[in-house]
Amino acid sequence: MSGHSNLDHALDAWANSHSPVAVAVCDPSGAVLGCNPAFVSIGAHDNNDIVGRPIDEVLMQPPKSHLNLALRQVIAEGNARAVISVPSAEGPTPQQWELLLEYDAEKDLLFLMGTDLSREAQLTAELQTRTTRDRLTGLENRDALRDELSMAMSSGQPVALFLVDIDGFTRINDTFGHEFGDAVLLVITQRLRRFAGARSFSARVGGDQFALMIRRMADPATIQATAHSLHELLCGEMVINQSKVHLRISVGHAGAPAGATTSAGDLLREADTALSRAGAEGGNRVIEFQPRFHEELRRRTRTEADLRLAVGTCQLDADVQGIFTVGSRTLMGFEALARWRHPERGTVPPNEFIEVADRHGMLDDVLRAVLERSLGSLQEWLVTDPSKYLSFNVAPSQLANRHAVEIVSHALTMSGVDPSQLVVEVTERELVADPVALEALDDLSATGVQIAIDDFGAGASSLGYLWTLPVSVLKLDRRLINSIAHDASARRIVTAMVQMALDIGLRVVAEGVEEDVELEILRDIGCPTVQGFLLHRPCNLDQTDELIGAPKTSLAVPTRHR
Ligand code: C2E
Ligand code: CA
Ligand code: CA
Repeated sequence: MSGHSNLDHALDAWANSHSPVAVAVCDPSGAVLGCNPAFVSIGAHDNNDIVGRPIDEVLMQPPKSHLNLALRQVIAEGNARAVISVPSAEGPTPQQWELLLEYDAEKDLLFLMGTDLSREAQLTAELQTRTTRDRLTGLENRDALRDELSMAMSSGQPVALFLVDIDGFTRINDTFGHEFGDAVLLVITQRLRRFAGARSFSARVGGDQFALMIRRMADPATIQATAHSLHELLCGEMVINQSKVHLRISVGHAGAPAGATTSAGDLLREADTALSRAGAEGGNRVIEFQPRFHEELRRRTRTEADLRLAVGTCQLDADVQGIFTVGSRTLMGFEALARWRHPERGTVPPNEFIEVADRHGMLDDVLRAVLERSLGSLQEWLVTDPSKYLSFNVAPSQLANRHAVEIVSHALTMSGVDPSQLVVEVTERELVADPVALEALDDLSATGVQIAIDDFGAGASSLGYLWTLPVSVLKLDRRLINSIAHDASARRIVTAMVQMALDIGLRVVAEGVEEDVELEILRDIGCPTVQGFLLHRPCNLDQTDELIGAPKTSLAVPTRHR
């Protein structure tokens, strides 16, 4: 027994001298009888200073302090609590102490226990920053990455930073469920870990975003090669629990050379910018940060803000470009091309705002405006001659969300134009990639409008595939047409395409005809209709009168001007 009590005593003594909790014992009047080292460290004392003195004085409390209240309360009620502020020996900021008081009536002693709240707050904050690991993947988080980057960069090392994003991850989650989504993230994590070497640091920096930082990597060619290997490693087919997904991965990367003056934050931002760029360019690609991206990003943000203001006003407009028969150059129809009449920038072409509109859900407004304006102006002409048509462009995202079908139906009702006189142009590449868009194509076709495949021949095009689609018009891509005059193989391809398309009952339009020689070749090949600067440049809707009213034969070939 006595051995135990010795041990207990030793333990008590040890704990007492090491505890961060301050303990003191007083008589009922509040005079200190004894205390532990932590208590001595409150304020600046040494032990001899303390014993025998009133505790409120020792703790440097004013006469009407919380402590005095608590001292009275503890005698009456047995316990009390007080939070006091004590001038610190270490600096100008006072320390906050929480005191728990207890009165032992039997021993007639007052016990006091204090914890340093400032230190606790500091510890909690430290703990929080220490929990730098992501719960799901066990990878480090963004804060940890930033710290690691700062450390490497401040030591003057060159660093390469790669950010990885899974394209369409929300869709994967929605389609297969969140558990599946988590599993995908875990597989990516595993692959990333295997890829990361001793000089690397990997982190999960967002829901479906990962980062890899590699120290002492400076050579641009090596960085690029690494980015591409990373992309290759992560993208492609993944099978989880017998479900198969095809992962598309975007990689944005940026590097800081040895002794760079950029901060970790700057480098992260640069890699981020490159990553969003990869997304904006369609995803599933690797993009290296370029300083000009920042300027372009600012411009895009500006465009987006301005576009929001333009929606619903007459700033959104359309130009039209005539489509003609090859032989007699008869005007058969117009293609409506979106234009933005910006109050300061002037007329903005579609390649400067369509993508922004698409990304921010404003394409429907563009389509509505284009149809409203062009039908408003050409309605009479179309109703008078049912052999004429109006062509317009629809993006695949609009097909996928089905709004295009509504907008087109509405335009038909309002204008009284026969559905067969409207031609919806969609590009093949985008259609093939999106099964939902394909379905919507059937719905569009059911309204009676015609469907044209735009830019055919620009990429990997397959004529055979067109059999399965409700398509009636094929528009041959400008780049292909511009090659026929000097490239025999392009000529052979166009010849074959035109013949096959006509064979399966499609109408064919050659786009971008700029030269007489191109027109001649197209006529020889048997291509029936053409569009291009040679015959007509896109013009305002109020400039179509001459073209519409002009007798076929008097349509002069305009001199080319650029
Ligand atoms: P696209 O559908 O292939 O439209 C034809 C583009 O080629 C037009 O450019 C037209 O001005 C241009 N073009 C016509 N003939 C010639 C020629 O002989 N030589 C050359 N070099 N170019 C010629 P634009 O108006 O700048 O439109 C560019 C693209 O923007 C369009 O290509 C289309 O993909 C898209 N776009 C235009 N309007 C809309 C719209 O209302 N909605 C959507 N989603 N996209 C649109
Ligand atoms: Ca088009
Ligand atoms: Ca086109």
